[in-house]
Amino acid sequence: MRLDLIVPCFNEQEVLPEFFAVCEEVRAQLQQRLSVAMEYIFVDDGSHDGTLEWIRRKSETCSYVRYVSFSRNFGKEAAIAAGLQEADGDLCALIDADLQDPPALLVQMAEAVIEGRCDIAAAYRKDRNGEGKVRSFLSRRFYAMLNHNDKVEMPEGARDFRVMSRRVRDALLSLGEYNRFSKAMFQWVGFKTEWIGFENRTRAAGKTKWSLSALMRYAVDALTGYSSSPLRIASWFGIGMFFLSLIGILFVIVRKLVYGDPTSGWPSLVCIILFCSGIQLFCIGIIGEYLARTYMEVKNRPLYIVKEKNQKKN
Ligand code: UDP
Ligand code: MG
Repeated sequence: MRLDLIVPCFNEQEVLPEFFAVCEEVRAQLQQRLSVAMEYIFVDDGSHDGTLEWIRRKSETCSYVRYVSFSRNFGKEAAIAAGLQEADGDLCALIDADLQDPPALLVQMAEAVIEGRCDIAAAYRKDRNGEGKVRSFLSRRFYAMLNHNDKVEMPEGARDFRVMSRRVRDALLSLGEYNRFSKAMFQWVGFKTEWIGFENRTRAAGKTKWSLSALMRYAVDALTGYSSSPLRIASWFGIGMFFLSLIGILFVIVRKLVYGDPTSGWPSLVCIILFCSGIQLFCIGIIGEYLARTYMEVKNRPLYIVKEKNQKKN
């Protein structure tokens, strides 16, 4: 049996040597305990540091290291797609290069899949120690909103870190969409998933590639890509406004007829107009997000462009 370990890397030269050392131990354990041969598939996502050179050197000395390198930075989701495309073992696994996903768990995860207890063994963080408060809060809200959508359900703190069987890999590759959000795609394709928790840890070296704004964009992508609840929010807003204005109109009419009040004041009118147009713009914005995504899908561009990769040795 063979397991392909997919490692998306974007400017990870500082952490790669340590990552590789830790994974080599896991590779030995997998061989010993489960008779699984592990191979690496590094996906260089257009790094501008020494990442590609490091990977290239490794692939020359180790026959079990393969790599794909992109022509520019296409994002982690594209890197995952390229890795899956390249993987042809009985099992494949996804892992971050920064050692935030403990490679030691791979043994336990691979065991679960091999024994047939599940098709996907996935990891989640039991806590968010060492992470900023704002980021934690926003992440929690994000998962709560996603879970609202009944097709997508996952524990909070779910990672992309997982081991999967060949058929899950094939199913994932059959989803040809441009806007990808792996965690939701995993849920969408189905299959039995076993969740394994671990304690959060901070990056071993290097910096995170996600700024708060990049994460926000990712969240908007995921929400609009895998749930239509934002569109529903817009409709509810509209209905709410309709009933509010109905009450307002009744109030004004009754006041005029019963008390003979002159209907006074343009300031209130201005407020109402501003309020309504604000909500309208907001809703048009939501529709725009979906339209933009539809446009990207319709263009049907490739997810990534490969600049170079090494040939398979056997
Ligand atoms: N990554 C990537 N392309 C990107 C951003 C990140 O391939 O555009 C990789 C990165 O090298 C790492 C993994 O995705 O292996 C997770 O990134 P990071 O640790 O920066 O994210 P965080 O853990 O902070 O969410
Ligand atoms: Mg990380």
